[in-house]
Order: sequence, then C-alpha cells, then structure tokens
Amino acid sequence: MQKVVDFIQKLYSTTEFIPLHEPKFIGNEKKYLNDCIDSTFVSSVGKYVDRFEQEFAEYVGSKYAIATVNGTSALHISLLLADVKAEDEVLTQPLTFIATCNAISYIGARPVFVDVDLDTMGLSPKFLEAFLEKNCEIVNEVCRNKTTNKTIKACVPMHTFGHPCKIDTIKEICDRWHITLVEDAAESLGSYYKGKHTGTFGKLGTFSFNGNKIITSGGGGVIVTDDEILAKRAKHLTTTAKIPHPYEYIHDTIAYNYRMPNLNAALLVAQLEQLERFLTDKRALTKEYVQFFEKMDDINFVQEPKNAQSNYWLQAVLLKNKSARDKFLEYTNNHGVMTRPAWKLMNELEMFKDSQHDDLTNAKYLEERVVNISSGVRLT
Ligand SMILES: *Cc1c(COP(=O)(O)O)cnc(C)c1O
Repeated sequence: MQKVVDFIQKLYSTTEFIPLHEPKFIGNEKKYLNDCIDSTFVSSVGKYVDRFEQEFAEYVGSKYAIATVNGTSALHISLLLADVKAEDEVLTQPLTFIATCNAISYIGARPVFVDVDLDTMGLSPKFLEAFLEKNCEIVNEVCRNKTTNKTIKACVPMHTFGHPCKIDTIKEICDRWHITLVEDAAESLGSYYKGKHTGTFGKLGTFSFNGNKIITSGGGGVIVTDDEILAKRAKHLTTTAKIPHPYEYIHDTIAYNYRMPNLNAALLVAQLEQLERFLTDKRALTKEYVQFFEKMDDINFVQEPKNAQSNYWLQAVLLKNKSARDKFLEYTNNHGVMTRPAWKLMNELEMFKDSQHDDLTNAKYLEERVVNISSGVRLT
C-alpha cells in the first residue's frame, strides 16, 4: 500500500496532505467577482446569473438552464415539475449521495430503490425493467405499483462519480411505463453518453456546483430542460413565484427562494471557462492511474463504461473485499492521502429502511469495495 501512497505523492509532486478533490481558481474568478462587487448587484439580480444560464445551456446542449442555490434545490424543483406529489413514489438507485433522496422526501414522496450495473455504477436498465414487470401495471396512463398501491411518477438515475449510466435505455423504459425521467447529473458535468451530454436525456436534468464538484460556485446548482413551459415554471418557482411588476409584491403560489446569487454566478462563469482544461487534466491523471494499477493484481482501477465519455470527476478503485477496502482506507488516510469509501446505501439509512427495493446485489458489492482516490486537477 505504501506503493500507492508513493505513486499518488509523485503524481501530485508533494509529500504533504493530498485532499480528495480541491477546487482550482486559475482564470477570471477574481476579475468577475470584483466586477460583481463593484456593480453592487451581488444578490438576486445581475448579469452573471443570466450569462451563466446561457453559457451553461449552450455547453450541455439544452435549450434552457435555470441556476439555483444548490444541486439539492435543483432536484427538488425538478421533481415538483415532474408532477411528483406527496405519497407518490420515485425510482432511484441506492448507491447515491443523500441529496437525491432528500429532494424526493421534501415533497413527501418516497424513494424506491433499484439496483445499479457493475460497469457503470449507475441505475441498471435491466433491473429497472425487471422491477417494473414484476411489481407494476399501467392504469389510465399512470404507473401503479401493485405492491404498495402507490403511483410511480418519476425515475432519478445518477451518473456515479461522473460515469454515465445507460441512460438511453433507461429513457426508453421510462417512456414506455409513463414515468418521467429526471437525471441527477450533479457529478457528471463534461460527461457524455453516445455523444450526448448527461443531464439532457430526461425531461429535466440537474447539476451541482458544490465545493467538491468539477467546477464550483461555492454552492450552486442548475436545472436544464428543453421544455419552455417547464423552464419558465422552474424560474418562477425558484424565485418566490413573484409576478413581474415595477414595484408591487404579488406572488401567485407558495414557492421557494432557491435562486443563485449573482456573486456565485460570477465565480461560476469563470469556472465554466476552465472546464475543458480541467477535463483534459483529469484524463491525463486517469491515464497515469490506468498504467499504474494495471500492474497491481489486488486493486482494480475503474474506467469509463462503454459508449461513454466520462469526466472522471472522482477517480475510483475496487478492492478485493470489504476488509481489504478498510485496510486501504486506513492506510492511505493515515499517510496523508485522503481517500473515501462510497456512500452507505440509501436503503440502509434509518430514514429509508422501509423503502421498497429489489435485490441490490451489485450496489452492495460496490459499497463494500469502492474507494475514491485523489482526483484533483494538477495543472501540470
Ligand atoms: C453533489 C450532489 C448533489 C447536490 O448537492 P448540493 O450540495 O445540494 O449541491 C446531488 N446529488 C448527487 C449525487 C451529488 O453528488
């Protein structure tokens, strides 16, 4: 294991502590932030929010982008726009960050967990189809879960660590079962499936710009969609549902203060300019890891799945078993190289322990073996 620590220290040219993923501000960040402060428009109005929304939509190839205060709020609003209501069910994967399930729960809906594929670590179309065949029927164009007597309104796959899941097949299944597809693309900015950007396959897609993501605004998120009506409603719901008026305060529904401040958008516009450079840098890092781990029998480096171009947001390895994983985590973290296990499966958390789920063999397998290793951009 010392060999791994030595190698990572060589990669990052340091013997000091190496964080998992550090943000880099090497472009116009300070310039735009200063401009934003000088303008005094630091909050809810300002040119950087509009500019970011335009440039982001263009980058991922969607018609509209609506900036939000974080990725969780982007998911919350997207699920509301997918018509998810209290007591409805939402299909998702158990191997994900808590935000996915929190957003579902804010509405009073319940997550239902379907297993992931081993090659993508994301929702498995094969298990999705099997779950629906076994448990569900279509009644009056809605998907009814015969086991729980609830309606399945939406499906939220997640592109784990930036590796695209088999999203085109998932979309095809959702369409057939009258389930709205909402993509949690929080981790996959810069990742493509069959040449199309992740997050743009569903009716709505969401991204996060939290401090640990590939680009960051400190905190932030965005909703993307091609549907003009949904885009307008997303903007309305994230901005307290205020009716435009020169001076009066009229709001037409109970809504949210989820907009991204202009200050954060200024930072984000500059970060977006650096994205291609970050992606290239990460690919170079991946190449080094591939060569290094090829020579190790007991550690497998995770590469992008078929048909996909991954942003390699978090680099990952698979250990032989849970005890090997635990030893690896302990050794690396004790020797100045920060590494992290995958999340505890959502169905194992107290809040979701009663949620329906299928076998979850693959998710369990991955939970016990995956470790994320140093993934930060090096700018060499
Ligand atoms: C980061 C992340 C989010 C959103 O997180 P925020 O901190 O609210 O921006 C959502 N889902 C996944 C899978 C994530 O990794």
